[in-house]
Amino acid sequence: MTYELVIGLEIHAQLLTDTKAFCRCPNRYGEPPNTLTCPTCLGMPGALPVLNRNVVEQSALLALALNATIHPHSKFDRKNYFYPDLPKGYQISQFDEPFSSGGWQDVEGEWGMKRIRITRAHIEEDAGKSLHQDDGSTVVDMNRCGVPLVEIVTEPDFRSESEAAAFITAVRELLRYIRVCDGNMERGSLRCDVNISVRPLGQTALNERTEIKNLNSIRAVERGILCERERQIRIYESGGQVIRETLLWDEATEEIRPMRRKEGADDYRYFPEPDLVELTVSPEEIERYRDGLPELPNVRRKRYREQLHLHEEAVAVLSGDREQGDYFEALLRLGVDARTAAGWMQGEVRRALTSENRDMADFPLAPSALAELIQAVERSTISISVAKDVFRKMLTDGRSARAIIEAENLSQVSDESELRLIVERVLAENPDELAKYKSGKRNLMSFFMGQAMKATRGRANPNRLAELLQELLDTP
Ligand code: ADP
Ligand code: MG
Ligand code: ZN
Repeated sequence: MTYELVIGLEIHAQLLTDTKAFCRCPNRYGEPPNTLTCPTCLGMPGALPVLNRNVVEQSALLALALNATIHPHSKFDRKNYFYPDLPKGYQISQFDEPFSSGGWQDVEGEWGMKRIRITRAHIEEDAGKSLHQDDGSTVVDMNRCGVPLVEIVTEPDFRSESEAAAFITAVRELLRYIRVCDGNMERGSLRCDVNISVRPLGQTALNERTEIKNLNSIRAVERGILCERERQIRIYESGGQVIRETLLWDEATEEIRPMRRKEGADDYRYFPEPDLVELTVSPEEIERYRDGLPELPNVRRKRYREQLHLHEEAVAVLSGDREQGDYFEALLRLGVDARTAAGWMQGEVRRALTSENRDMADFPLAPSALAELIQAVERSTISISVAKDVFRKMLTDGRSARAIIEAENLSQVSDESELRLIVERVLAENPDELAKYKSGKRNLMSFFMGQAMKATRGRANPNRLAELLQELLDTP
């Protein structure tokens, strides 16, 4: 029997707000345990939550980026469950009236382009974190309690582990791009639960599913899906039934093990959060958020391919990294040709970033400074190899291209009389080679070119130099 894999994802993204969702505690990772807490996020009796407006702004950007509809009214609900990392005994979430619903995201891969439907993207708060100690005890850190999350739920549209991985990659790229989440799966600022079922190929009804949690890398997601697929197929092949349950991925052993029977919605006893008013977003606000949205990676990718005809490698980098793409765009606005600009981005700029292990965000040269340098090459003021030296100098001492070219007298020598003097001197200094050339060793031309270039420290305009050399060599 051939089985088809069916997957739906639930992605939790921690928002990059300065403070938590419903209190004014800082939203920061890596602080000493239990130092970022207050009566509100610890759930002390009488403490009241107040929604952080920045959570709405970031969630709105994300919803729009996912092509979802933001609802003018949504409401918060309490999701009740008991767990040591949840001091309130409930999580503020959204149940039947989510912030947004009905979006999509295209994913590209060996299957071509596929549109994944997004069921909803709602706002909720994070829980704390249990830390299991070596001595067998467990302690809890509440710093994460109340950190804002957006939960993105997809339709069961994935048919392979690679499609799911491509989606997570695309969403992570998008989150970083619009600067609402750092997308760090190891630290848990991006988490993904995977719902999986298998069915005989051709069957339209969905079979029972399980959910895997604790997958903290894209590789783990792929491995987890494949393990679970095999497990479910084995169950059906031996005449059994898959039961709805939550499974945990064990990174160390690369195995899945049962966690608990999946609670149905009833077990969470959802009810409206009485301490928060309903969330309203006006059409004007939505328009304002839409205006604040940058050109998104998929749109950029298409434009770079189809209109600018960039190489696929440049397309990937410049459309995937917002800072690099924006820098590139700034070069274009300054009049630099697209392919030339992409060449510099992929070449010197990238080398400079990797050698110093920097991000584009703290790249020291303004686009206008680089554009001036590139334009010096295009106007033949300097050669490309001199330009690369100037570029490195600009990075280290902060001078402008023009200042370096002038101070170090690097302008290309195109001046007829100056070049003629140099060529004459080179010929006079190399009488043997000149004689051999005259007797037919025409390939000595490149030797003379090299000598003349050396005499000008690489500054000679190569075309003019070649013409002059030819002329002088061929005069009897
Ligand atoms: P719950 O409310 O129990 O979390 P949802 O209906 O919200 O269930 O679905 C949660 C996730 O599971 C969604 O991403 C959805 O696409 C996925 N899903 C639902 N049914 C199946 C199935 N039979 N096989 C695989 N994934 C499924
Ligand atoms: Mg769910
Ligand atoms: Zn707090």
